[in-house]
Amino acid sequence: MSQGDAGPRPPVALYLHVPFCVSLCPYCDFVVVAGASARGASSRIAALVEALATELRLRADALDTRFGGPSSGGRPALASVYLGGGTPSLLAPGDVARLLGIAGARFGLADGAEVTLEANPGPDERGDAAAFARAGVNRLSLGAQAMDARLLRRLGRRHAPADVAAAVAEARAGGIANVSVDVLYDVPGQTPDAWAATLDAVVALGVDHVSAYALTLDDPDAEGLTGPLGDHLPTRAGARRWRAAAVAEQDEDRAADQYRTAVERLGAAGFRGYEISNWARPGRESRHNLAYWRRLPHEAVGPGAHAFDGAVRRWNAARLEPYLAALSAAPALPPGGEEPVDAAAAAAEAAILGLRLDTGLAVAAATAPGSRLAPHLDWALGAGLLTRFAGEDGEARVRLTTDGRLLSNELFARLV
Ligand code: SF4
Repeated sequence: MSQGDAGPRPPVALYLHVPFCVSLCPYCDFVVVAGASARGASSRIAALVEALATELRLRADALDTRFGGPSSGGRPALASVYLGGGTPSLLAPGDVARLLGIAGARFGLADGAEVTLEANPGPDERGDAAAFARAGVNRLSLGAQAMDARLLRRLGRRHAPADVAAAVAEARAGGIANVSVDVLYDVPGQTPDAWAATLDAVVALGVDHVSAYALTLDDPDAEGLTGPLGDHLPTRAGARRWRAAAVAEQDEDRAADQYRTAVERLGAAGFRGYEISNWARPGRESRHNLAYWRRLPHEAVGPGAHAFDGAVRRWNAARLEPYLAALSAAPALPPGGEEPVDAAAAAAEAAILGLRLDTGLAVAAATAPGSRLAPHLDWALGAGLLTRFAGEDGEARVRLTTDGRLLSNELFARLV
């Protein structure tokens, strides 16, 4: 399938959202609940696992009706499953096995499918890697964020740098060969040396994949995303204060220098920057995230989860209790919303997502009549934001330079 395919298609990837964390980091605007909901006698984890199981079946029923079942040839087996959060490593391995079992039975899992579990590195958060591997997980994505104890405290994280090393070692020993870490830059108080040291430390751990994101401090309330059917939760007052102080310490120039440091250090260590924020050793690119960037259809379950069928984007509302209530007793699909993606929006998305990848865009597509990029191509090439190169088949293509990646928002704003 290509970026240009239109119309509804069955999913090739599946996302399950697990919204629990032991505590809330003040910068986080993922759909997360913490505290008593996440562990202890009144934990809602068991209720969520039941609800996810039910939603998986209901979504599969709907797909069977639209496209036929996976064993009928009406739907491709899933190439990837991703348990994200939150902290999905708070789930018992038996629950992960149960959910993956339902996914396999109702969606089909392709041979060698990539099955990722997000985990936090802390000893009481990362769970049992060997047991997760036995449950079917073959890729671990660790929220390291920094390898500097002072910065981790500033970010409100519960783990220490040594926990990241321990989590990677446990994953390897437990049979999870594919390990990714997330790290953050443009963090208040983060010196250039501290950032370089974090990059060097994760490289030294021998990980397969690094996601490096600038710390973003958005305001989902102001963006109107936190209503009853919204895909975000309201921001707490303490988090709002933390963000206001942190924004004052962010610095665009420092962030640009830090990005260049990541390009240099990760490149020198043998990682390919295959996407603006993602570097992989050969063959370790995230297949699941590539499905998003290639606009392939994906199914999604859990509070706040987003799905796409090639024509319509759909999301579940973020609030946990209404989600659980809908899927218990007389089960029905949870509250949420959807919006069709018209041809113009689809073309803009394809151009922007294509340019996020180092495989870029075919010049023929970029210059085709009606292309969003066509009017801006010469400007972007002249400004050094894009460069021409030959694709694997010799086709003329364009992709962002490092300067282009740093100024990508300026170019992308022209494409929407
Ligand atoms: S651990 Fe991750 S998902 Fe959980 S609150 Fe912190 S940033 Fe958000």
